[in-house]
Amino acid sequence: MKEILAIEGGQPVKTTPFGSGQRFGLEEAMQVLEALQQNTLFYHFGNKVKTFLNDFNELYGVSYSVAASSGTAALHIAMGAAGVTVGDEVITSPITDQGTLIGILYQNAIPVFADLDPHTYGMDPASIEARITERTKAIVVVHLAGNASDMDAIMDIARRHKLKVIEDCAQSYLTRYKGRLVGTFGDYGCFSTNDFKHISTGDGGIVTVNSGDEQDYRTTHAFADKNFQRFEDAVRKELHYLAPNYRMTELQGAVGIAQLKKLPWICSVRQRYGDQLTTELRGLPGIAVHEVKPEIECTYWFYMLRLRLEELTCTREAFCAALAAEGVPNMMGYIPAVMYKQPMFQKRQAYLGSHFPFELTGATYEEGLCPVAEDILATAVRLPIHEFYTPQDMAETAAAIRKVATYYAKGQADAEP
Ligand SMILES: *Cc1c(COP(=O)(O)O)cnc(C)c1O
Repeated sequence: MKEILAIEGGQPVKTTPFGSGQRFGLEEAMQVLEALQQNTLFYHFGNKVKTFLNDFNELYGVSYSVAASSGTAALHIAMGAAGVTVGDEVITSPITDQGTLIGILYQNAIPVFADLDPHTYGMDPASIEARITERTKAIVVVHLAGNASDMDAIMDIARRHKLKVIEDCAQSYLTRYKGRLVGTFGDYGCFSTNDFKHISTGDGGIVTVNSGDEQDYRTTHAFADKNFQRFEDAVRKELHYLAPNYRMTELQGAVGIAQLKKLPWICSVRQRYGDQLTTELRGLPGIAVHEVKPEIECTYWFYMLRLRLEELTCTREAFCAALAAEGVPNMMGYIPAVMYKQPMFQKRQAYLGSHFPFELTGATYEEGLCPVAEDILATAVRLPIHEFYTPQDMAETAAAIRKVATYYAKGQADAEP
């Protein structure tokens, strides 16, 4: 017997509130107090940003990283350090935050979009390779929603074509690919600590410098600090090219120190909850789970399933409304549309009233450029995953999805008396 949906007057599956908690505590407060007691909030004079980076380097097993004012800034810094410049092409994902694209365009380089895997939402290596031209300078690999892209294949393409690789790990803290942390494969790994990410410093970012080369580190560091070269006691103020001021303050560094200690726990809970949902949802009519390849450990910034509408008697709108009525909050899709459908790309207007730098290559961004990515956004249903949720919250989420999918499954309705 099919259960009556809550939206049609039945009993909702989820009747208790989802677990919640305080993400900032005395640990953060103590760190901030110490920062203030330093009598300076400047990263180069204080110890908080330095300690935050040292802790991050230890956690990630890298020698060098640079702090930034945001994830967007971290990505722009990586572009600058990688030498991305006027008229270069940079290949990236059409399903991402605009922060991935901003630095590319501020360097007057041209974003080129490659398609995605339909179920892991990682970047498709074959599509990346097909987009390479004489002008291609770099690949920005977006690791979406805590999952990882296929780094062996992507690094192989980059080596063969002599391209820089920048990993956008804003949504993928402590995600492992074949046992190794994402963010340590490419030339640079970029992270965000904005208030919506696994850990928060209000706003902030980190760039890892994976070459381990000191000069590379110095270039990256200077690009975040107006091209001032601040090392030990010496400050060199010679300016050979343009660099922005993307410095992190001691207040953010202080909060980051305390947040970083919680990160392994946050990621392990999210991994367990996301994987549990997949186990419970796999095989349900009309549901395609958020796939994670066996060689990957996904830390789920969110969980995004896809509807196989051909197996269901309802629309996505109806499915999502029914699920919400069962007490499970959810959203249709992720970003409103693939990035290249944004007016900025359709009008080819990065700078108000100008077609620069798009006019350098004659780049255009037609519908259908990345058909898999377009399809993902048209059929996806996004569920929040949170470390403060309880195992019961997750079990009830799965039960609600099972109830709605079973109710709307094609063929089922006629078979039941
Ligand atoms: C959040 C995010 C960014 C930008 O980070 P901000 O700190 O908000 O500037 C970039 N890329 C991805 C994939 C993100 O999720």
